[in-house]
Amino acid sequence: MDDCVFCRIVKGEIPCQKIGENKEFLCFLDIKPVNEGHALIIPKRHFADVMEFPEELDRGYFAFVQEMARRIIPAVGADGFNLGMNTGAAAGQVVFHQHTHLIPRFKDDDLGSWKHRDATPEELVRTRKKILGE
Ligand code: 5GP
Ligand code: ZN
Repeated sequence: MDDCVFCRIVKGEIPCQKIGENKEFLCFLDIKPVNEGHALIIPKRHFADVMEFPEELDRGYFAFVQEMARRIIPAVGADGFNLGMNTGAAAGQVVFHQHTHLIPRFKDDDLGSWKHRDATPEELVRTRKKILGE
């Protein structure tokens, strides 16, 4: 898509710090990293989000994600990493070309994680029924 920033990166119209690529996928550094080595992994073909991700790319995608993690994590000396796909504006998606954030994590970083809350067993039952339409 002409007005998609990630399609423009794929076409080479916008520069990026490329970490790796193959026929289907590209990995490059996020321009506003959460931590050193924060990378984005995208299909070269345009899909808005993970719900439009075609089945035929599934297996190769995660193999590529693993390959990029093996490249990035030791290089920046990280202790772990988060993978994330923001899906929909409410979830923080800004670029509507499917991408996975690979965010290196360090033992002493202060990023934390999602805030969890306690739930009663009844609430979990109600939620399951709502989801399954029971
Ligand atoms: P989202 O919020 O949609 O999940 O994440 C989009 C990400 O793309 C953001 O973390 C943002 O910093 C990154 N980004 C946006 N535009 C560019 C760009 O032109 N180049 C690079 N390398 N990253 C970008
Ligand atoms: Zn695109």
